Amino acid sequence: MLGRCSHEFSWPRRTGDGDYYQVCTLCAAEYKYDWKTMRRTERVDHSTVEKAGAAEAGDPARRRPPKPTWVPRARRLALALPLRYRVKSLGEWYAGQIDNLSQSGLLFRGPQSLPERTLVEMIFDMPEEISGQRNSTVLCQGRIIRTKETTKKAAEEAPESKGVVVAASILDYIFLHSNK
Ligand SMILES: [Zn+2]
Repeated sequence: MLGRCSHEFSWPRRTGDGDYYQVCTLCAAEYKYDWKTMRRTERVDHSTVEKAGAAEAGDPARRRPPKPTWVPRARRLALALPLRYRVKSLGEWYAGQIDNLSQSGLLFRGPQSLPERTLVEMIFDMPEEISGQRNSTVLCQGRIIRTKETTKKAAEEAPESKGVVVAASILDYIFLHSNK
């Protein structure tokens, strides 16, 4: 590919040794992703990785040391972003609002409760910290982790929070380019 790719990054994926990486859906460039800072760190160049791997293959002492077991709490991106959600492939969309996004997925409020483990589709603007792009609307596949009614007190104090609080994991997403 000639010229510079503007990069549209996938949801971070986990490698076998517990690190995360993102792939650009346009040019297939791969970057390591650090959830603690919510940033891409270094580009992964497969030609050098393979060479280094071959050089180290016969020497277990040169492998990286085990990681410490204590892991700081994952960063959460506080948001106030509109989203639409529905049961995967089934009719009605509900309008909700995202409260935060983290490694474990989304926390949002909406009018409709859904059973745990339901597969859902969600449409929203993926934050630049993940996608590498501003105003990148995505169609996202996810799974309901839990749904909780908002308390009566919370609903009285903030009428817009009436309904349910939903935690959903993110499995994958595609970029929507509706204005092209
Ligand atoms: Zn790219």
